[in-house]
Amino acid sequence: MKKRILALLAVLTVGGLAAGCGQLSEPPRPNVLLISADTLRFDHLGVNGYERDTTPALDALAARGLNFTHAYSHAPQTAMSHTSLLTSLYPSVHGVFEHGQEPDPDLVTLPEALQAAGYATGAFTQLNGRTFEPGFETWHYLESELESNKGLADLSVLTDWVGAREKPWFAFLHSYDVHLPYSPEEEYIEMWAPDYDGVLKGEFVRRRTVDAVNDGSLVTTERDRQYIVDLYDAELRRLDDIYTKLFADLEAMGELDNTIVILFSDHGEEFGEHGNWGRHSYTLHEELLRVPLIFAGPGIPVGQTEDAAVRLVDVAPTIFDLLQIEHPEHIMGEALQPIWDGTERTPRQVVAERNNERALIHAGFKYYQDKLYDLRADPWGTVDVAAENPDVVERLSVALTDWTARFAEMAAVVRTDGTIRLTPEEERRLRALGYLQ
Ligand SMILES: [Zn+2]
Repeated sequence: MKKRILALLAVLTVGGLAAGCGQLSEPPRPNVLLISADTLRFDHLGVNGYERDTTPALDALAARGLNFTHAYSHAPQTAMSHTSLLTSLYPSVHGVFEHGQEPDPDLVTLPEALQAAGYATGAFTQLNGRTFEPGFETWHYLESELESNKGLADLSVLTDWVGAREKPWFAFLHSYDVHLPYSPEEEYIEMWAPDYDGVLKGEFVRRRTVDAVNDGSLVTTERDRQYIVDLYDAELRRLDDIYTKLFADLEAMGELDNTIVILFSDHGEEFGEHGNWGRHSYTLHEELLRVPLIFAGPGIPVGQTEDAAVRLVDVAPTIFDLLQIEHPEHIMGEALQPIWDGTERTPRQVVAERNNERALIHAGFKYYQDKLYDLRADPWGTVDVAAENPDVVERLSVALTDWTARFAEMAAVVRTDGTIRLTPEEERRLRALGYLQ
């Protein structure tokens, strides 16, 4: 049974790839730089219409590439979401729900596929190695000051690694810089909140700060809550300045022109859209699921914006097609090229999961917790329009039932046993992020 399902999936997913990697020595194969800005809200990028100049580097990246304005994560949690991107599987299929769990070792992940195709593979990250390390020949944990959780400052470790490679490379860069606690330096606070003098002044915004805002034990004004956003934006501008230097360094090394750069986030953050601040992980609302997604480099259209709904499970197959690498047989995403070249007209269905909840988004509607949201008129999903649209509810609930059955079938083949293994050091880091009590 297992082999039959895998064979069927292989037929469904390989489609259209003629060339094997042995035939691709001319021209030189592009490098890949995959950047995860953990907890980055899509709507705080300048290129996505934000009024502050928070992201000049990412705006410039989008200008020389392709910006997806409706990209979706499959889970509002770091381990689940990153595993979905790296395996092209939905959370309940890969089964990695917590930090410290490992995907099924038989799965071929994105770094493993690139390594098998001859790529040098390196990760520079604040993620736990146990979950994500397979396929990376270099695994560099970005040490942070636990007080601030900033992982990025000097990225010479990455550029030195790139400079020492003699074959095409795949680098994965991930950090918690815009994740709680919000702890920007004064020069960045000055950019957005020079005159703030409320109850949060002089403090980092931490997990316990937002918990106190949410439960009312800390009384805050609208200006105080805006200050939480100000600090987030200060963290973001600091992060973007680091990306500016990284891209300039890679360009000076002659590496950038032949590098596919992909920027995404694993989930967003809550700024009161549904009543809560800074808690991500507890709902499947839009502020947590919609994420930035930018592609730039060889094979990518220049200066294009795509509004179609796309998914993080689609990123790995897109990379495989750009590099003309055969898809691993288990993957569930679809390459994005048919969207950007205009040949795909049918909207993709997006499914997101947490615990036993699922949401389905399709053609501008979102079905979640038996409610229906018209995202075209109500982009944050706050007004239930199920009663007025029984036909849409029926269509989306049937689709979600079909996905659920498919997930169960796939999980029977590839899901991990779910054992959590954490070293004391990994526990300490996760506690600092607020993931462990
Ligand atoms: Zn995360």
